[in-house]
Amino acid sequence: MSDSLTQPAMGAGTAAVQGPSSTAPSTAPGLAGSPSAAPAQALPGDLAAAIETGACIGVMGGGQLGRMFVHAAQSAGYQVAVLEPDAASPAGAAADLHIPAGYEDATALAQLAQRCAAVTTEFENVPAAALRQLQALQVVVAPQPAAVQVCQHRAHEKELFMRAQVPCAPHALISSASAAASPAHQALLPGILKTATLGYDGKGQQTVHSAAELQQAFAALGGTPCVLEKRLALRHEISVVVARSASGDAVHLPVQQNLHRQGVLAVTQVPAPDVDAATQQRAVQCALQLAQVLQYVGVLCVEFFVLADGSLVANEMAPRPHNSGHYSIDACDLSQFQLQLRCLTGQPLVQPRQHSAAVMLNLLGDLWWPMGAAAARTPDWAPVLALPGAHLHLYGKAEARRGRKMGHLTITAPDAQQARAVALQAAALLGLPGF
Ligand code: ADP
Ligand code: MG
Repeated sequence: MSDSLTQPAMGAGTAAVQGPSSTAPSTAPGLAGSPSAAPAQALPGDLAAAIETGACIGVMGGGQLGRMFVHAAQSAGYQVAVLEPDAASPAGAAADLHIPAGYEDATALAQLAQRCAAVTTEFENVPAAALRQLQALQVVVAPQPAAVQVCQHRAHEKELFMRAQVPCAPHALISSASAAASPAHQALLPGILKTATLGYDGKGQQTVHSAAELQQAFAALGGTPCVLEKRLALRHEISVVVARSASGDAVHLPVQQNLHRQGVLAVTQVPAPDVDAATQQRAVQCALQLAQVLQYVGVLCVEFFVLADGSLVANEMAPRPHNSGHYSIDACDLSQFQLQLRCLTGQPLVQPRQHSAAVMLNLLGDLWWPMGAAAARTPDWAPVLALPGAHLHLYGKAEARRGRKMGHLTITAPDAQQARAVALQAAALLGLPGF
């Protein structure tokens, strides 16, 4: 069959999308006329050829997503090299080789290319130029630099949503103080002003209610290009992780329901307790559509809002595994990191099956600082680990700063009700709010 999308069924045993990328519509890749719009990079011809076990895989970035990829790749018999400037990083500590250098260091990139059969990224802000340099050195790079670049810029991301006919929030690009002062943006108020690049975990955003606040916020965010989005009444937040191979096969994890606190993911529940099957299907369809339009190779996560009227709006994409997909390690027969590895190494993609209901709680550095504490202390894990189905993941970060992602706890159970009940017990033991 062609690369066109089939409507996937939800839950266990959902449909995979298969087909050669060569049958994709000619309009598919790239967005003309902007940096994000460069035609999708042709991947080296041998991308579809399987990379054998024992080979070394490279990762750009040393954070926890890289660390969990290292674990998945090593347990499948691969070696991993991590390029990361920090001397002590979660992924660097776990990797077979840590190259301590900046992401654009030519010598380090040459070393990575020389050592590795393929390279991926664990964060979206890796400079696209570095990925292109790796490609020029004849190493397989996935996802493609152009796709990573789209995800680095909120306006380009939204252009892609519109091109792929995936609904997104009403918005405008604001690149100058005079644009911030324009009365044309009145319809987007109250809105959220977000820096176009480099925002994460709610950082680089301000809510604005008036034209005056918009101008102040633009200045406060440093006068850097921003996207003003209409503030929407969110009923729920969900996300979908899809994985797409070089040959155009695509699979996905079940829809995740996410709760954010202060702009940071706090809780993920799968199956999504409050979102109907039809909405979930639409979200999966949209995520697969975006992967196809990008001719994407790798794991892609798309975040969505479900609005009060039940409609679905795409929020943003991550060209990598995602915090909301961590539960898949313990609750699915293929995790998002195993999917990332399979895409990169040209191994078969199989539709993952969720075998346990799951609730994931993010563990932020605040937990290491109980009220009034003079120094950080490790939380008492024993009572949490005494709960049935508790899977504790810690990222090996030495310093527990407030707001810093230190680890996560996944509770698995035979059904969603039990997973939630145990997760609420875990939250209470840790001093986290309920959900
Ligand atoms: P980040 O890159 O920091 O994750 P997001 O754009 O995902 O930035 O915004 C973080 C959170 O802020 C979202 O998960 C959502 O809770 C809220 N948010 C973002 N945009 C909107 C919007 N247009 N309307 C209402 N809430 C929003
Ligand atoms: Mg987000």
